[in-house]
Amino acid sequence: MTAERKVALVTGASRGIGAAIAQGLAVDHFVVGTATSEAGAAAIAEALGERGTGMAVRVDDDESVAAFFAALAEQDRMPLVVVNNAGITSDNLLMRMKPDEWLSVVNTNLNGLYRMVKPVLRGMMKARFGRIVNVSSVVARMGNPGQSNYVASKSGIEGFTRSLAQEVGSRGITVNAVAPGFIETDMTAALEENQVEMMSSRIPLGTLGQAEDVANAVAFLASDKAAYITGETLHVNGGLYMG
Ligand code: NAP
Repeated sequence: MTAERKVALVTGASRGIGAAIAQGLAVDHFVVGTATSEAGAAAIAEALGERGTGMAVRVDDDESVAAFFAALAEQDRMPLVVVNNAGITSDNLLMRMKPDEWLSVVNTNLNGLYRMVKPVLRGMMKARFGRIVNVSSVVARMGNPGQSNYVASKSGIEGFTRSLAQEVGSRGITVNAVAPGFIETDMTAALEENQVEMMSSRIPLGTLGQAEDVANAVAFLASDKAAYITGETLHVNGGLYMG
């Protein structure tokens, strides 16, 4: 299976958007989906069956990432498609934001990107093919009170995407971002009901999005059909923000 299909790595594939992305890419890739725990990794492996596997990694931890890539190389599964989806929030007004709330979000969402992308570039360059898709957020463009840490990390992801796209384009590697709007997952389940109603009323298409809406955009950017698109951020937000 691995020899016939390109390996696609999806971080944060245990639930929500990442789980849908993993299922979408598993149609024509061998998917390595990650969770933070071994139990989560085992559940991903079960969900993907022969179309992929699950592994544990913490993108906020250098040692965990090093061990993860050593294991992937050992299994001859270095990916040519990488979807950086793992992300966290830790909301607070800046006046009240504790150092750990700032640092944990930036270290996971943004520094995690550096940790996960650098090790895969050599293999992509050698193959003269690669697809990197980074999951941003609509709030990177809109801003959002109480999320200065998260918005800073997501804006950083979009700038990283444009810069790396320019560095590696000549090697057949595309680097793009997908910016979801408000999608029904555990992350948005934490919102109050009146916040959800308020958000929905501002969305021209009238409802929160589904994880599959984002997964479809990622599958497109990972496909041959998107070969001439790089450095772009594709918005999947029901019209909430139109730039
Ligand atoms: P979610 O349901 O909270 O799932 C988060 C995923 O990230 C889980 O698989 C989790 O693994 C993993 N993860 C958390 N911390 C990690 C770490 N330190 N290292 C590695 N993996 C880690 O999130 P979601 O709503 O699907 O969001 C997925 C992505 O979309 C995120 O980047 C988020 O910022 C972005 N996004 C979401 C929305 C939305 O409305 N939901 C909107 C815009 C952007 P475990 O299960 O093991 O904890």
